Amino acid sequence: MSEVRTRIAPSPTGDPHVGTAYIALFNLCFARQHGGKFILRIEDTDQARSTKKSEDDILAALSWLGLNWDEGPDKGGEFGPYRQSERSDIYKKHVDQLLDDGHAFHCFCSTERLSELRKQQMAEKKPLGYDGHCLHLSETEITQQLVKNTPHVVRMKIPQTGTCIVKDMLRDNVAIDWQQVDMQVLMKSDGLPTYHLANVVDDHLMQITHVIRGEEWISSAPKHLLLYQYFGWEAPQLCHMPLLRNADKSKLSKRKNPTSVGYYQRMGYLPEAVTNYLGMMGWSMPDEQEMFSLEDMINHFDINRVSLGGPVFDAEKLDWLNGRYLRESLSNDEFIQRFSQWAFEPKKLQAIVPLIKQRVERFTDIAPLAAFFFSGMPAIDAGSFEHKFLAQEDEKKILQFIAWRIEELDAWHRDQIEKAFTQLAECMNFKIRDFLFPVFIAIAGSAVSTSVIDSIAVLGLDMTRARLRHAITILGGTSKKQLKNLEKEYAALALQAEQS
Ligand code: GLU
Repeated sequence: MSEVRTRIAPSPTGDPHVGTAYIALFNLCFARQHGGKFILRIEDTDQARSTKKSEDDILAALSWLGLNWDEGPDKGGEFGPYRQSERSDIYKKHVDQLLDDGHAFHCFCSTERLSELRKQQMAEKKPLGYDGHCLHLSETEITQQLVKNTPHVVRMKIPQTGTCIVKDMLRDNVAIDWQQVDMQVLMKSDGLPTYHLANVVDDHLMQITHVIRGEEWISSAPKHLLLYQYFGWEAPQLCHMPLLRNADKSKLSKRKNPTSVGYYQRMGYLPEAVTNYLGMMGWSMPDEQEMFSLEDMINHFDINRVSLGGPVFDAEKLDWLNGRYLRESLSNDEFIQRFSQWAFEPKKLQAIVPLIKQRVERFTDIAPLAAFFFSGMPAIDAGSFEHKFLAQEDEKKILQFIAWRIEELDAWHRDQIEKAFTQLAECMNFKIRDFLFPVFIAIAGSAVSTSVIDSIAVLGLDMTRARLRHAITILGGTSKKQLKNLEKEYAALALQAEQS
């Protein structure tokens, strides 16, 4: 049998998600258990949403967790480049091949036509999808459009009848009717491939033998299997892992749980505890032992022990496990060393010191002033938010709008944060001083503190998001209906902010 090769293929859009780490862990264990290789590939075909920062953060998060890859954009390897944005020529060549062989077709339909079609299908309660309008254009018509430079995409042909059988390592065969499968766009009008094409081409060229990924991709499997067939390639084995869930069994979301690996790092969890915890998601050691190292997991790994019931990512259970690690697995000296590494991380200190230096007369002044940089959620209650002019509903609104605004920033820098806050305060008709009051309480637990903008810049998006959410909960939270109204109000404001 050829060497086992698995991969994690994150899209660099946003924070490094615990779900990515979870899938990476299972891919790593599977590869190692078979003496194979684990590859990291960056799927940045969505140019509008992909960022270098997100890519860097994902790499840093996986490294922090000890999930080391053998080949990747930072490491190189025989099958590179490992970043899809650097592989455009390869995809182009493969799309041309599909066109030549009659497995794909040019589609010149305008966005207006497609949205009209969608509306109509919705009204008639028909399945949504492309109707094959451009499927039968003549060679001449196609050439004419291409010569005119009419914007177009390339779509794959899909059988109109029959069923696709998806073999999955964890399930009985999954049967999906071809009628439910859309004529997927393979190449967008900007000449860049979609996920589906790039993913299949790369998995083949990078000689991936086992695709272990989240369950949400199972419905895409027929398209992928068909592409392998069109190219005349052997498809890798597929394994769709159950998705992580919130306590209420909905898909794990940052609205209900912190999902960014960076948050757990900042909150002072040990990476080995987080990795251990992710290993407990739908999997267990043969002896049911709950505390196990990555090495233990690799040594005892068996993908067939994955159970399909949606594993709940339970923050309290993680706390319990992390506590056990702190108490049971570290000697006092190791504890000191690990704590110092976390607390006195040079980059963090370099950011904090300029903020507090002007305000201290003795070192003993540091801890009270800087404590909130090193703590979890500040100890606050509704009374902490009492203010001369602001009603608590206004404060909740301010915090919620800020929570949304910071997600939209494309760089995490104090000047950008300041600009965004000033604009928001203006649009909401608050004096900046009043506007910032609830933010101080949410972030630092007190209105007497270092600049809240600078503090937010130091704390990072993960921790800021968590504290804003905590404060909103303390202020009574928001019902679904309130949230809807706020969303509307915010959308109207944000528009104003963009234009100003
Ligand atoms: N880029 C996809 C993602 O972000 C990868 C899915 C796959 O593993 O095929 O999840």
